[in-house]
Amino acid sequence: MRVPRLFINESLALDTPSLALPPTQSHYIRNVLRLRPGQALVLFNGEGGEFHGTITAIGRSVVTVRLERFDEEDRESRLRTQLGLAVTKRDAMDEALQKATELGVSEIVPVITEHNATTTRSLDKRVQHWGGVIRSAAEQCRRNRLPHLVSVTSLTDFVTAATAEIKLIAHPGDTPWSIKTPSPTSISLLCGPEGGFSEQEVTQACLAGFTPVSLGPRILRAETAPMVLLSLAQSRWGDLS
Ligand code: SAH
Repeated sequence: MRVPRLFINESLALDTPSLALPPTQSHYIRNVLRLRPGQALVLFNGEGGEFHGTITAIGRSVVTVRLERFDEEDRESRLRTQLGLAVTKRDAMDEALQKATELGVSEIVPVITEHNATTTRSLDKRVQHWGGVIRSAAEQCRRNRLPHLVSVTSLTDFVTAATAEIKLIAHPGDTPWSIKTPSPTSISLLCGPEGGFSEQEVTQACLAGFTPVSLGPRILRAETAPMVLLSLAQSRWGDLS
């Protein structure tokens, strides 16, 4: 059986004789995973590395763990990737966040665009939910550092603040990748919502130094485009080659 990995939002140290896990993780271990004392567990807190431990006790509401070994492996890409992700409908957004985390994205910026399928009213709840999606994805894909989820921003603010060496906006058309920079260390990618970007938004991004790129002759779903962009970027300049 694969050893369960859990994100814990608190400091962790090897010399803790008995670590009491927070209620959410305790509940998950006891009632969802149905683990037993003596079973192995990996904990990480996003500050780097992971702790291997063993469950020492499973109480009604608290599970305790003994941390036994620290492994500093982080599984991060050498390429710093910032993803500007137009806010889309719930499932599409969740999928994009999950896959982007698996593909090693460094920073995710939810971007409000003209054709967004959301109201700003529900955003606070959604941001909390997105944090959970990212944490679960990191648990599953064995990343020990969480991608940084930045506050929701406007397209104007996103494009003007982006400072990466290469800045690309995914927009259907006939502008294939032709990037001259031999080996960038940072890249900013902007992907649109279900309804696509308006021409004005594309112009605005271009004025801020973004280059439009086509991802082939077919129109991809809003959740597929970030996966393709990140895969291409990681395979050219990151850790997917
Ligand atoms: N309804 C829009 C497509 C939206 S697809 C239209 O018909 O034009 C959602 C987003 O995915 C787009 O805004 C773009 O960022 C990206 N995308 C999808 N297919 C693409 C392609 N072939 N090339 C570049 N970007 C693409």
